[in-house]
Amino acid sequence: MADCIFCKIAAGEIPAQKVYEDDTVIAFKDLSPKAPIHVLIVPKKHIQSVAHFQAEDKELAAHIFVDVVPKLAADFGVDEAGFRLTINTGKDGGQTVPHLHVHFLAKRKMTWPPG
Ligand code: AMP
Ligand code: ZN
Repeated sequence: MADCIFCKIAAGEIPAQKVYEDDTVIAFKDLSPKAPIHVLIVPKKHIQSVAHFQAEDKELAAHIFVDVVPKLAADFGVDEAGFRLTINTGKDGGQTVPHLHVHFLAKRKMTWPPG
């Protein structure tokens, strides 16, 4: 999608510190990290938010959670210690970039509830 920063990163038009990539998903370090490890897992397809998932996105959603998240957890060595996934959705959810992304945060003790 034109003028979408995460589409541009997925297309290689804007640089990012990539930690994972396959045909449908890219993951890169957040520019403004909120934990020692803070990675954004982003579908290459432009989907605005989880509220905009279509039935055809089921495989992609499963791929993110069943394949990519466990791989990142293992690669970062946090599968035992734990980590936090966050998906800010819409205005009240605190979403600032309108292209679906899963925050993967690790290597510090998280607090609850989030702000
Ligand atoms: P959210 O507020 O959930 O929409 O998260 C958007 C995240 O994208 C924020 O944590 C930003 O720091 C991050 N971000 C924005 N632009 C970039 C970029 N060019 N490269 C990496 N992270 C970015
Ligand atoms: Zn996009």
